[in-house]
Amino acid sequence: MFATAGVHPHDAAAFDAARDVPRLREMLKGSAVAVGECGLDYHYDNSPRETQRATFAAQIELAAETGKPLIVHTRDAEDDTRAMIRQARGAGVIGVLHCYTGSHALAETAIDAGWYVSFSGIITFKKWLDDDLLRLVPDDRLLVESDSPYLAPVPFRGKRNEPAWVAHTVTRLAAARREEPRQLGATTTANTRRLFGLALPAA
Ligand SMILES: [Zn+2]
Repeated sequence: MFATAGVHPHDAAAFDAARDVPRLREMLKGSAVAVGECGLDYHYDNSPRETQRATFAAQIELAAETGKPLIVHTRDAEDDTRAMIRQARGAGVIGVLHCYTGSHALAETAIDAGWYVSFSGIITFKKWLDDDLLRLVPDDRLLVESDSPYLAPVPFRGKRNEPAWVAHTVTRLAAARREEPRQLGATTTANTRRLFGLALPAA
């Protein structure tokens, strides 16, 4: 199990740079493997947008300083997320768009900047219609995640999610991409290891 360190956009209003940046820096120079979840959420707007952007920018700087990737949450904030990806690119920082359900254009922007795109159990839901998005991401930029305890995949939808159930997400993703699930699992494991610099056993 590996930890990450960051401030979620929902909590950006509580971010205090003088207090929190040194704490985050300490964790990131220690065992934390990534900065995040950070990002922008203009759907819930739980924190003011300006504060979300400033908190995200501070974390891009931390990622640059510590050489760690970003785990980015983005919802209804595509233009500003694109600007932040550009800013990260200028700072030599890559990351992953986590639990991604956004536009093809934003995914392409991220991929062009060297980023990864991660899919969750949402892609197993009946209302999921965008298999083209699942095929748009190159093999070497593809991740899967549980987002546990949320977003349990079909056939466990509505239950408390478990990491083991990410296999159902892999199977659905493989079907959309016309790939073999076990091979895709090996690919996403290798991608995870590369992005986060993990010492995981070979799949
Ligand atoms: Zn999120």
